[in-house]
Amino acid sequence: MRSLRNWAVGSGTLALLMAAGGASATDLIVHAGALLDGSGQPARSHVSILIHDDRIVSVQSGFQTPPGAQVIDLSNETVTPGFIDCHVHISARLPSRTNATEDWLTHNDLYRAFQGTVFARRMLQQGFTSARDVGGGDETVAIRDAIKAGQISGPRLWVSLEPLGPTAGHGDPHDGLDSALEHPGWDNGLVDTPEQARLKVREHRRRGADLIKLMPSGGIASTGDNPRQQLMTNEEMRVAVETAHALGLKVAAHIYPAGAIENAVMAGVDSVEHGSFATAQTFALMKAHGTYLVPTLTVYDVFYAAARDHPELLTPGTAPKEMANDQLPKRNLPLAIRSGVKIAYGTDIGEGDHAMEFGLLIANGMAPSDALLTATRNAADLIGASDDIGSIAPGKYADLVAVKGDPLSHPELFEHVDFVMQGGKTYRRDGEPTVAGSE
Ligand SMILES: [Zn+2]
Repeated sequence: MRSLRNWAVGSGTLALLMAAGGASATDLIVHAGALLDGSGQPARSHVSILIHDDRIVSVQSGFQTPPGAQVIDLSNETVTPGFIDCHVHISARLPSRTNATEDWLTHNDLYRAFQGTVFARRMLQQGFTSARDVGGGDETVAIRDAIKAGQISGPRLWVSLEPLGPTAGHGDPHDGLDSALEHPGWDNGLVDTPEQARLKVREHRRRGADLIKLMPSGGIASTGDNPRQQLMTNEEMRVAVETAHALGLKVAAHIYPAGAIENAVMAGVDSVEHGSFATAQTFALMKAHGTYLVPTLTVYDVFYAAARDHPELLTPGTAPKEMANDQLPKRNLPLAIRSGVKIAYGTDIGEGDHAMEFGLLIANGMAPSDALLTATRNAADLIGASDDIGSIAPGKYADLVAVKGDPLSHPELFEHVDFVMQGGKTYRRDGEPTVAGSE
């Protein structure tokens, strides 16, 4: 009984179950051949993870089987926390498969919501049990809530709404179109004074945002703006951050030039997305302030290929900007790693392979064990949800992934997950979806 008594440590619920003579029929016990638990500790072999309802109760050495618990045999696999992608656009199609401007003008938010449900369930099948959507609209709030309610399958979502930025900036949907065109919602992110920044943050909160996205610099995939210019004022950024933080919302800044990044860091943003033109000085400042970098190498690979092979599919005038800038974040990654800045995993895609980023991070200088931490511990910390996700420990959601082999020696395994569990429910087993309609 000694080992059984250990199961009950820290769990009043389980203690009651033990008194009743064994684990509940609803309890699951995962036998993990190896465990990388998201803490940064080396792999442990032969570990049992006890799960009650949607949470982890205990993590024990050896293959234990409490009476009444249902065994999930992953004794030939490596178990890790479910992956977390901190930069997605869940409803977005891949640029190589659609004309961006045509798609924008020929589909509405309702269509994008249905499309997003397809990409969300594919993401979960790829092992991503949580994600942060940084730039959608009301459709992403609806997708988040439908997942939370169990109506559709997909990663747990934290969502911003439309990115906040100035007129004629990267987040201005009017840019590149006939200036006479108007649409309700196209001004939802436009901010040209500090007071407008304060109001938009509060409006986004009212519409259901979990975080705020800023676009302080010009962009690459947008017509007419310059990615090397800072377009929001320091005061606009400062007021947006102050208002968001007062509401308990984190702030992600999509930003490129070194000087603008440094200003955004001083304004208090929680993460720098992309950060393409950052210097050693920029990374040192981010490190000093605890600001995360989300490098999003995936989107640059995808857009670089689209600009080279199908420039006609991109927004008018943007292919040359993609060709000129898309290789920089990769080249800059070793500098970021050396600087010690905190890095979280992000792809910047909706449709497509969200596990690609693992390979890109590793190919550009990151240790495989650190790449896994960007998508687990660090991502959970950036989102502000470390109590619930990002590691395999008592009290956390039972969000688990397993691969057949050692992903630290064979990182390509991250792209071939064999098993996916979210909140104690198995969505993938033996490499196949287990829930009808979740493929
Ligand atoms: Zn993005």
